[in-house]
Amino acid sequence: MINNRGRILIVGSGLAGSCLALELLERGKDILLIDNQLKNSSSRVAAGLLNPIVPKGVRKTWQCDILFPALFGYYRHWESVLQTHFIDNYPFLNIHANDGEALEWEKRMNEPEMSAWLSRSDEHNLPPLAGESATWVEHCGRLDVSVFLQSVQDHLTSRNQYAIDGFNHSLCKKTGGWQYGDEVFEAVVFCEGIGLLENPWFKYLFMDPTGGDILKVHIPNIGDNPMIIKQKQWIVPTTERDIYLLGSNFHKNSMSTEPEEKDAKFLLERAAQITKQPVSLIEHRRAVRPTVQQRRPYLGEHRSEKGLFVFNGLGAKGSSLCSWLAPMLADNILSGALLHAEVDIQRFE
Ligand SMILES: Cc1cc2nc3c(=O)[nH]c(=O)nc-3n(C[C@H](O)[C@H](O)[C@H](O)COP(=O)(O)OP(=O)(O)OC[C@H]3O[C@@H](n4cnc5c(N)ncnc54)[C@H](O)[C@@H]3O)c2cc1C
Repeated sequence: MINNRGRILIVGSGLAGSCLALELLERGKDILLIDNQLKNSSSRVAAGLLNPIVPKGVRKTWQCDILFPALFGYYRHWESVLQTHFIDNYPFLNIHANDGEALEWEKRMNEPEMSAWLSRSDEHNLPPLAGESATWVEHCGRLDVSVFLQSVQDHLTSRNQYAIDGFNHSLCKKTGGWQYGDEVFEAVVFCEGIGLLENPWFKYLFMDPTGGDILKVHIPNIGDNPMIIKQKQWIVPTTERDIYLLGSNFHKNSMSTEPEEKDAKFLLERAAQITKQPVSLIEHRRAVRPTVQQRRPYLGEHRSEKGLFVFNGLGAKGSSLCSWLAPMLADNILSGALLHAEVDIQRFE
């Protein structure tokens, strides 16, 4: 909790920093957001898929019952504040790879805790896809992360609250508050994604970066009703007709953001198998997810350097997790409200 005497500096305008900036502004707090505009940051490459179900074991994702009922309303609120469109609901069709998988999904669909999340596919008019059976996953969609980030940046720039610059940790000094450049900030919140590895105060928090590829592709004739299609790999509609995002994969412990041809080839072949259509490549990008041990994010104030906070470890789920965690951290910084025990960095004390 802080004393409310000055501005808060946020380092990093990915999903974490952008959502936190909006939350602090909405609570009447003055902020400055600084970002070095890494072209291949995790948020700038992410597909923004919003999916409540983990295929392995057909389970609900962590905190699904808290996250998903409020998720679309959360981003629609920011759409109205920022006067931009970036959130869409889409039907999500999970195609079974084999009979065993079909049986497993069928069994789970009949369990009471899953009935609100899964439904049978046979009553819908489906395009001809690989696989003989499929399940609909409910409450899914896509956040157009690039449009969201740009609209936050434009909003803050118009208020002189955004700076394009690399934050140099060695120039940030404790002087009552935290001095950076000419200004003394009341608090600094680090939302640096994998930049955490270079952070002298928070690098004690373990990070396990995971690379991933996303392709922008053209696929004709997979139906007039846009839907997300998944059979291990996913195909996500965009607002442009016949243009989809295709992903993804996991490169363990890789920090490379250089796309490799073999990954594009694999994904394109998979998309052609799934859709039974020719798939042509428009763009190939690769980034590194800020993945952490046990997949529980890092939120909270430094154990000894008061006024320094962290918001990180969103892994592969930043688009949904931010809607819950950004308000939680804003309340913690401004009024000392408790953080959820599983995300509070005090767990490492
Ligand atoms: C291939 C791929 C696909 C993905 N798909 C999805 C998906 O479908 N759905 C989903 O929910 N999530 C997805 N993700 C995960 C999602 O991208 C992350 O969970 C989320 O974007 C992390 O946001 P962040 O703000 O914590 O980090 P980042 O996005 O890494 O943002 C950190 C920001 O800090 C800036 N920065 C770092 N260091 C400094 C410094 N010293 N000075 C100034 N600025 C600095 C960077 O430029 C960057 O803008 C995907 C990720 C990848 C790689």
